[in-house]
Amino acid sequence: MPAGHERPPVVIVGAGVAGLVAAVALHEAGIPVRVFEAADDVGGRMRTDRHAEGFLLDRGYQVLLDAYPAAQRWIDHDALELGRFDAGALLWTGRRLAPLANPLRHPAALPRDLTSRVFSMADKVRLARLGAETACAPWQSANQAATSLGNDMPAVEYLWSCGFSEAFVDRFARPFWGGITLDPHLAGSSGPLLFTMKMFLRGSAALPKAGIGAMPFQLLARLPEGTVSLSSRVTSIVVADGRLTGVRVARKKIPAAAVIVATDPVAAEQLTGVRALANAAAGVPSVTVFLAGERDPGTGPRIVLDATRRLLVNEIAPLSAAQPSYAPPGRHLIAAVIVGDAARNADLEDIGQRARDDVATMLGHDPSDWRVLETVAVPFSQFAQPPGIYRRLPGNVAHPPGLFLASEATVDSSYNGAMLSGDNAAGIVRRELAFAASAPRVERDAAG
Ligand SMILES: Cc1cc2nc3c(=O)[nH]c(=O)nc-3n(C[C@H](O)[C@H](O)[C@H](O)COP(=O)(O)OP(=O)(O)OC[C@H]3O[C@@H](n4cnc5c(N)ncnc54)[C@H](O)[C@@H]3O)c2cc1C
Repeated sequence: MPAGHERPPVVIVGAGVAGLVAAVALHEAGIPVRVFEAADDVGGRMRTDRHAEGFLLDRGYQVLLDAYPAAQRWIDHDALELGRFDAGALLWTGRRLAPLANPLRHPAALPRDLTSRVFSMADKVRLARLGAETACAPWQSANQAATSLGNDMPAVEYLWSCGFSEAFVDRFARPFWGGITLDPHLAGSSGPLLFTMKMFLRGSAALPKAGIGAMPFQLLARLPEGTVSLSSRVTSIVVADGRLTGVRVARKKIPAAAVIVATDPVAAEQLTGVRALANAAAGVPSVTVFLAGERDPGTGPRIVLDATRRLLVNEIAPLSAAQPSYAPPGRHLIAAVIVGDAARNADLEDIGQRARDDVATMLGHDPSDWRVLETVAVPFSQFAQPPGIYRRLPGNVAHPPGLFLASEATVDSSYNGAMLSGDNAAGIVRRELAFAASAPRVERDAAG
């Protein structure tokens, strides 16, 4: 920059966790940043609303995994006052709820689980072997887990190749990992299956006391006031002489030393023209029906999986049993989660009542014990991750010079992937700005 002119800030488009991590990393490295967010608050897909009756409703059921490497780097988990789900599940067999526990956390449950007939002893041995392999793997992301395979394949085929039985795949793997990847067919890459297995063995699924939206708020608190402009949609990037010079917000040009596009993949493709990003058709939907009641679900903080695969609801998450702050005193909150084709073709008019009936069936309650509080449909919850996709994803550097990407879309579809991407993008921008700042000095030195 000419003497007397201050370098403009790095502009970040989008205040989801990818954009916020990038902003915090740059700010803490002494680089001025401005963040523009189209929505009325930060968090992107990780937001929490307080219902008029005092319940905490996340914008779709999701959990915090405290072993996620990127979250361990960027999030103070203790400050979130986590409520944890139990390391195990209850499987609805059509007649009863069969318990299944993680033997590393609940060794006392081992004799019971080993003799349970939900799936065979051979499957239990295979599961223990796979668990031991994944727990020691060095992966930092689902992307790395998939890439380490060399030949990525659909998750279901990976399970077949390990010798798992149909009973194991249908009764446990499809509802369990189907709930995580939102695809009960398990047709996507094996990476998320392997990586989340490692995460569940290394840590817990949990909910922050203030809801899932507490994570982005924790990042926001590390930025100076006024850094983030809400309700400010970036409509285009501005290029002059082949180099990016700023962005346009409400027709006004905002100058930028560099621009990091940290929107969802669909908006990122529209703004940057980078074609390798997931488009709207690649969005994987989910529907969450929040149900409130005065009757204890009776599950403890354990999720309930539909092992019959005949119900609309894939799983029940007893939210207030895991994190009591999710419901006012004396009340209970559960999430009935619908994924796969059922979520894609969901008729939102009657889905709440159907979910309530499924919940009553699985819990052995009367449907009138539960009331539909809200139904949250998110058409683009994650992007589809077919086998091999990670090799085709774009990197953090885009064109023209000065344009960068920070998004789950450069790593994998998870908040771990989003945070890793934000961290990477900030590192690259720091190095580029440092290089640009040092270049004139080198010329002067050379001149004598
Ligand atoms: C129901 C649901 C369940 C999930 N479950 C899990 C889970 O259990 N574990 C997990 O790891 N992940 C889960 N995910 C995925 C996870 O939430 C996302 O991977 C992550 O939040 C993506 O973060 P991001 O910052 O890349 O994008 P986003 O969160 O999409 O943030 C992008 C931001 O950019 C803003 N924006 C878009 N266009 C513009 C523009 N032109 N100008 C300015 N701002 C703009 C948007 O408003 C948004 O705030 C789930 C997601 C959903 C919806």
